[in-house]
Order: sequence, then structure tokens, then C-alpha cells
Amino acid sequence: MYLLAHPIGHYKLSEISSLHHWNIQRQDKLIGNFMMFNNNKIFIEGIDGKIFQIPYDIVQGNDKKYVDEEINRINTLNGIASPSSQNFHFQVAIFLISITISIFFLLIGIKSKKRNEPVFTRIAYSLFALFFLAFSIVACKKNKIIETIIPDIYNQGIPHTSPTFIDSAFEPYKPSVSTNWDSNYFHVATNGFPNHNMMIGITNWQQQVPIPQYYIDTNSWSIPLQPVYASIPLSTRTNFMKGAVAIAVNGIPIFNALNNRGEDSYAIGELDQWGGHCGKADDYHYHAAPLQLEATSGLKPIAFALDGFAVYGSREPDGSSMNTLDTCHGHIGSNGIYHYHGTTTYPYVVGAMRGKVTIDPTTPAPENQILPQAFASSLRPATSPLREAVITDFNMTGPNHYLLTYTIRNKTGYVEYYWDNLNNYTYKLTDTSGAVVTQQYHRTRKH
Ligand SMILES: [Zn+2]
Ligand SMILES: [Zn+2]
Repeated sequence: MYLLAHPIGHYKLSEISSLHHWNIQRQDKLIGNFMMFNNNKIFIEGIDGKIFQIPYDIVQGNDKKYVDEEINRINTLNGIASPSSQNFHFQVAIFLISITISIFFLLIGIKSKKRNEPVFTRIAYSLFALFFLAFSIVACKKNKIIETIIPDIYNQGIPHTSPTFIDSAFEPYKPSVSTNWDSNYFHVATNGFPNHNMMIGITNWQQQVPIPQYYIDTNSWSIPLQPVYASIPLSTRTNFMKGAVAIAVNGIPIFNALNNRGEDSYAIGELDQWGGHCGKADDYHYHAAPLQLEATSGLKPIAFALDGFAVYGSREPDGSSMNTLDTCHGHIGSNGIYHYHGTTTYPYVVGAMRGKVTIDPTTPAPENQILPQAFASSLRPATSPLREAVITDFNMTGPNHYLLTYTIRNKTGYVEYYWDNLNNYTYKLTDTSGAVVTQQYHRTRKH
């Protein structure tokens, strides 16, 4: 349902006294008239031309009465439905129509001069042309700054998260994931290997392969137990290009959906069929939502964001279908607490951090990262992209011994690698011509 009171709103002085004074609690008093209703949100045009959107559900009392009357009035005027899909389209249409009419009158004016028509006729044509020109300028004036009002609920305190609630989400993945907690954080220790296969399906590969990580002890993942709503949620489009934004319940970190070049990792083929790949430290991580975990996790959270809020899969915790998501990629749950959802489209997991996070002061945006953060421990120099390679298979061929198979134009290549108990790693690289290169590294834990 899309309802529009008037496409382009500018208050005249005479209208100011009739503006609605809203009772919605926020820092400054909101004054302005109802503009439209869309997607269960009402849009209000403020006195300075700013547009505010408010969830319809939080509107109460006199405000609700006024909104309902307006919706009914517009429904009646419009015969229920309004044909437009976007306010922006209205603006463009009105701009184009008025500029066309303006040119039309201008041309008639020029013709009438040639025909030597009376002066007042020519003046009238010019005035018409000027009027529609002015109208088109007003129509294209950009004043649609959308500000989402922070509903009152975001100004309230959030109860301390129960560690046993978080622990229940990690339970199905133990003992390869282990957990503990103190009064501030829930800690997750893991070697960074998931409970499913990896790598298969990657078509845009940097030649990295997964090796175990030391996400243990003081380098464990940390989920804050006392989330606090951020006054301005930090967008993952312009932040957190470094480090993880969430930790999946199988112990795999979830990174920003955009890679460090700002590209959608999933869309450009960098990810395997589970939504993951390896970074420069041969560290396996997701960039998409690991929705495959729903098969094991059921309706429990599939991850926790590093602001402390849970990430659910494609359903609500009670099994009902997912409610509408906001720009952070979540909403307030029926328990009154915010949560995110994983989806199959961008931004997949977190659109913006609904909760406050601490940012590593040494990292400037967008290459900033949340603290505390667990770190991968690199082993070999960074590898380069292998053009046209498609990863077709990945197998554990023995204890600490793996074989990755890829093809380039129907020719097969391999990366075979293994390590011993003294942390000596061997990589045997067989390219598609059959040439073999063997590399050896000794690994020292760096984190
Ligand atoms: Zn990555
Ligand atoms: Zn939900």
C-alpha cells in the first residue's frame, strides 16, 4: 500500500498554524503534516522540508487518530490506490511536464511575435512560460533528506543478555567450538574450520586455502553481553572493511559483505557455496549469511554480531516468516530486543551496526575494525588471483592433509598441503600444465 498526500510539499506561511504537533517522544518536538503511508511507515514533512519516517505501529493517541483520518481522506480522494511507485518518480514526472509546458508557451510566444499578435497576448504567453519554468525548478529542488526517527524503544536500556541463551546457540557445534563468559563478554574459541566443506564453487580465487587458526585464549571471539543502541548506526558500506562484523555459531567469523575493494564478494564469485573463502592468512571466513546453519540450528540464532545482537536465519525465532528488515538488516523482536537476519541478498547479514561498537582507533574508515576482535595468524606471503580458475573439489585426504582441485578451461590443477605437529607446513602446487612447485614454511603463532 502506497499513499501520497501531495507529491511535493512546501508549506506556505498560511499553512504553518495548521501543522500537526506530534507527541512522539524524541529530542526535539516534531511539527509537520502527514505526507504518505508506505510499507507500514508514515512519512511526515517537517517544517523545514525534511521528511521523517516513523513506523506506523509506534503512533499513538491523537497522532494515530490524525494519521488514520489522513489515510482515509487520501484513500477516498485517490479511489484507494495511488499509481506511483516512488516519490522520486513523481518529482521527475512533474519536472518534465512543467518544463515541456514552459517550452510550449515559449514557442507559441515566439510565433505570436512573428504573427504580430497583440502585445498582451505575447505577455500572457511569456508569463505562462515563466510560471511553468519556475514550477519545474521547484519540482526538481532536492529536499528529500530521509531521517529515520529513533523509536522510543531505542532510547530504553536493553537487558543484559543471558550467556546461557547465547551458549544454547553454539551448543550444536561443540566440541569444535568452545565457549565461556565473564560479566562483560561471551567468548568463543575455535580453530576456524567449519562443520561443512569449504572452497567448492569459488570462481574468483586468490589462491588461498584454509588452515587452522588460533582463535583461542586471549584471541577468542568476544560478544558483548550488554548491547547498547547506537544513536547513529554505522553503515557497513562505509565502515568495517577490516575484521569481522559477526561470529557464526559454528565458530566462523562473518566479514563485511563488501571486500576490501568495496565489491560484493558474493556477486563477483569470490565465495564458495557456503558463503565463505580464505583471506590473506589462509583464514576461512564468510562474507555472506551462512544460512546452511539453519539445518543444524533450527530457529536459534545462526550468528551474533559484534555489537551483541543475535543474527537469525530466514525465520523469526517463533518460526513465523521474517518481518520487514530495516536498513541495519534487522528489527525489534517480539521480546522487545533488536536482532538481525541473514538473507540471500546484499547486505546479507549486517547493513549497519544497530548497537554501539568500539572501533580500533588505528584504523580509519572504511578500513576500520571493531574491537575486541580475534586475529588470524598468517603463514605464507599473500598469493595473487588465478584467472579463470574454478574450484571444483576440496578434500581432507589424511590427518592435517588437504587437497584442493580447480580447473582452468577444462584443465585441472591442484593445491595439496599438509602440516606436522611441529607446525611445518608443506604446499605442493600443481598447475594446469602439470608443473609442480613445493613450498615449505614454519609457522609461529602471531596472535
Ligand atoms: Zn574475505
Ligand atoms: Zn526477526
